[in-house]
Amino acid sequence: MAGIYIHIPFCYSICHYCDFYKVPALGLKDAFISALLREIEVRADYLGDVAVETIYFGGGTPSVLKVNEINTILNKIALHFRIEKDCEITLEANPDDLTDDYLFSIRENTVINRLSIGIQSFHDKDLKLMNRRHNADEAYGSIRRAISFDFRNISVDFIYGIPGSFVAELEENLDRLFDFNIQHISAYHLTFERGTVLYKKAEKGVIKPVNDEESFNQFEKLIEKLREKGFIHYEISNWAREGYFSRHNANYWKRKPYLGLGPSAHSYNLISRRWNISNVKRYTESIQNGCPAFEEETLTQADHYNEYLLTSLRTMWGANLDEVKKNFGELAAEKLIEKSKKYILSGHMIRKAQMLKLTNTGYFISDTIVSDLMEINKK
Ligand code: SF4
Repeated sequence: MAGIYIHIPFCYSICHYCDFYKVPALGLKDAFISALLREIEVRADYLGDVAVETIYFGGGTPSVLKVNEINTILNKIALHFRIEKDCEITLEANPDDLTDDYLFSIRENTVINRLSIGIQSFHDKDLKLMNRRHNADEAYGSIRRAISFDFRNISVDFIYGIPGSFVAELEENLDRLFDFNIQHISAYHLTFERGTVLYKKAEKGVIKPVNDEESFNQFEKLIEKLREKGFIHYEISNWAREGYFSRHNANYWKRKPYLGLGPSAHSYNLISRRWNISNVKRYTESIQNGCPAFEEETLTQADHYNEYLLTSLRTMWGANLDEVKKNFGELAAEKLIEKSKKYILSGHMIRKAQMLKLTNTGYFISDTIVSDLMEINKK
């Protein structure tokens, strides 16, 4: 099984924390769609004969697409790939795009069966600080409308650890969300990425990132409240009701092949990784000229090992020592066991039979732990 990711690089305005590839104008949209359709054709063999079980419109802001544009893209994909009958097809959407008309149209006239709504917060002060286009009422209304149009697989994105925020506000966010029967929640800590407005403001001391203690308290509260409501914490930043784990993201973590279409999109075919140029104009021109602009690297055994650790330890299933032994050798498994001991002692990891997992405190410093465990790369 495989997945297809489509990067729609357009946004009406730019959020102050965002470092995804995007452009703040829609002028190139038609040319981009033509190039995308051409890319689907020329990369039809990328996944071999593997069936596609997930399609994901991400961005940027995929909800800038009109219904006929979504259908043109999906029809083209269906023409060139073998699509599973119960394929999960997700559209990321911004709350302000989810009008009655748009939701009705998506529901009635497309095969989109999962919505991922970028709510981020129900507090206007947070939304303002992040320069989101919507306000709290619009965020709330977009979920209510999506449910009223019978979307039954809805994911909501939240951001926590916002400057000036505290645990009680996070609880208010969750309580408002619990007014609805939502199937999936992704919650990310705000990060200050170089080049973003928030990064510059933090550098100048205009805003102050929350401290580690506050960050962890918010993370713990998320875990506690979502568990109480029956959500399963299946990946560091993702929670879902039983049966509603994101199949698309799970495929990344299970290291299944995927095809990435559009500027900046990454692809993986079990052997190499390839990424398209992060420039919509050059992406479009290069495809129209018959010479798509991308870079590619063949993965070494060390890369595969590191990626296995990076992805598996983010999930509730953890890393399987038998698999490490089978795929990377006995020595790699022994080293991993040895290296993990200190984290098990400190309570950041646990071992159950052949599974090594991060605990909640381990999740919180997962980058540090995982890069330490990636010993094979340091040779
Ligand atoms: S967060 Fe989403 S909507 Fe905001 S600028 Fe980035 S891609 Fe666009």
